[in-house]
Amino acid sequence: MNALPPRPDRAFPAAQRGLPATDGLTEAERGRILAKAALFPPPPQEDAEGRRDLVGLSREELAAEMAAIGEKPFRAKQLWHWIYHQGARDFAAMTTIAKPLQAKLAERFTVGRPGVTTEQTSTDGTRKWLFGFRDAQQVETVYIPEEEEGEIARGAVCISTQVGCTLSCTFCHTGTQKLVRNLGAAEIVGQFMAARDSYGEWPTPKGEEGRALSNIVVMGMGEPLYNYENVAKALTIIMDHEGIGLSRRRITLSTSGVVPMMDKCGAELGVNLAVSLHAVTDELRNEIVPLNRKYPIAEVLDACRRYPGASNARRITFEYIMLRGINDSEAEARELVRLIRGIPAKVNLIPFNPWPGSPYQTSKPEAVRRFSEIVNAAGYSAPIRRPRGRDILAACGQLKTASERARRSEA
Ligand code: SF4
Repeated sequence: MNALPPRPDRAFPAAQRGLPATDGLTEAERGRILAKAALFPPPPQEDAEGRRDLVGLSREELAAEMAAIGEKPFRAKQLWHWIYHQGARDFAAMTTIAKPLQAKLAERFTVGRPGVTTEQTSTDGTRKWLFGFRDAQQVETVYIPEEEEGEIARGAVCISTQVGCTLSCTFCHTGTQKLVRNLGAAEIVGQFMAARDSYGEWPTPKGEEGRALSNIVVMGMGEPLYNYENVAKALTIIMDHEGIGLSRRRITLSTSGVVPMMDKCGAELGVNLAVSLHAVTDELRNEIVPLNRKYPIAEVLDACRRYPGASNARRITFEYIMLRGINDSEAEARELVRLIRGIPAKVNLIPFNPWPGSPYQTSKPEAVRRFSEIVNAAGYSAPIRRPRGRDILAACGQLKTASERARRSEA
């Protein structure tokens, strides 16, 4: 159990407008996190001819680009529609724009996508991409379909937010790859757009129904709240109802518990929250999720309790990876239930997926089943996540490593 003394920023009053009122300590901590993120910037979104990528610009930035070339503000609205609603990648396809202006735009701008290094589809329908960017850095993106009567009705795209990660969670393969840089908004939105290209899901289907790529989980490589500004910009673009128009209810951001940024994320974006908990004592969590030394379990759970919009209809997801003999006992299941009491929550139990050199083993199925029963009996849904895409390198980070190995052996 967490026996750390309370910190002064524990008890935020309820949100008034926007961000909850915070003391100077939390503000300073947020400032520090944002400043650190700025040390790992993405490269400029320009091609070799100096043409700027319009993907990833906010509406205001797009309007400013149009103003800078002497075009009226409504051109930005037209472009927004073509880029994010129609999925157009070529100005020549934008038929409501006169040909001379199409040519002028093509001289100065591009509508980019990440390059597809590899695309693999599993026998269970999971599709994985290794996407490459201008500076040759790569990340993974995965589409996980849900099948309904043999038809793919809907599914989630798991997107990455950093190349590598600073957090070194001991069960995570990505955590073995040090942080190279943050992804830019264009690279984050671009993963979703390229996934939709792959399924031909353009123009954007009307409403929420009828989308195969119906949800986003920000759960891929990296800690999204350590790249907050780019993530927020990308998600704002994705949620814009005149473009991709995915509702905040269909987006889940997963964090290891960057407490000061959880408040900001809830107040500004209002997306669903998932927290990688994985342990019920600070002693163990300090070891497997080292960020816990900075933001211990009690603080993370307090941030969940005050997360705006959390309700029984919009529960907070706790991710719990099942490691044999480490965190999977019945006593730990009971302690988990005690810890999360009062939080509208569900618990995702994830059987550990071993990777070469990993120090853990997957929990025995019986232990996972008992754990799930105990959490269930306390009134929390506790589904056991089915391993997906095992045949195409399931664990996050494996695809990137495999490609690096292949490149090295070719060299
Ligand atoms: S689990 Fe997430 S936060 Fe932890 S090392 Fe892996 S990518 Fe980073």
